[in-house]
Amino acid sequence: MKLCRFQPLEFSSANLSRSEKKSHPEARAGVIEGGEVREIKSLFGVPEFTGSDWPLAEIRLLVPAMPSKIVCVGRNYAEHAAELGNEVPKEPLIFLKPPSSVIGPDEPILIPSISQRVDYEGEFAIVIGETCYRPAAGEDLRRYILGYTCLNDVTARDLQIRDVQFTRGKSFDTFCPIGPFIEAEWIVASATVETHVNGQRKQFGHTSQMLFSTDAIIHWIAQVMTLLPGDVIATGTPPGVGALAAGDTVEVSVSGIGTLRNPVAAREE
Ligand code: ZN
Repeated sequence: MKLCRFQPLEFSSANLSRSEKKSHPEARAGVIEGGEVREIKSLFGVPEFTGSDWPLAEIRLLVPAMPSKIVCVGRNYAEHAAELGNEVPKEPLIFLKPPSSVIGPDEPILIPSISQRVDYEGEFAIVIGETCYRPAAGEDLRRYILGYTCLNDVTARDLQIRDVQFTRGKSFDTFCPIGPFIEAEWIVASATVETHVNGQRKQFGHTSQMLFSTDAIIHWIAQVMTLLPGDVIATGTPPGVGALAAGDTVEVSVSGIGTLRNPVAAREE
């Protein structure tokens, strides 16, 4: 089952004046079936259909989750740790991206002039469906998971290295594209992660190559902080990271989910 957040196109900003836009600001939740989106009352819990359906061509997909935080795992693929000259961590290495960095499919990633090196990092991401804090050891964690999606952990690599702390390099507005929707089926065991820039494949990995499993990661994070419905966990990037430039199109694809596509532009300074 594919879950999404969307706006019917007649309510999208392109066709509306400023005053009209205010009257329809809310995003809707939906289930994608065939070529249609069926509206549901909430993204969370058992889907309750409202009876309103739209053809996919008549909606705009929005970012599928509105996280209170994005928790990322660094160096979770040995080959990626090696390509940046880092050791493989003994424990999951976690850091945060702010909710203000989130954008949806097709929204532009904006490169700030302060950075000379902005990288893509295609990642397999988990979307939390139920509040999770300190689950018991051995507990089945699937009940806490709404589903899985694609995420691009865009990174100002030069600032990340210069600061030691990751916050600035990881947190610019538009540095966290998420989407295009959430796959609710359990696809962890067989998922591949790929990143293409301008149609050329740059990254390829398989979830089986992750140093820490999705269960180990959720367990680790939830010992520290309460995971809330909508929170997103990025599980680390496979090898092949590289720079983005204004004019590029970057695509992160996860098998069984789909492709998250974003154009890249220079930020107006
Ligand atoms: Zn990352």
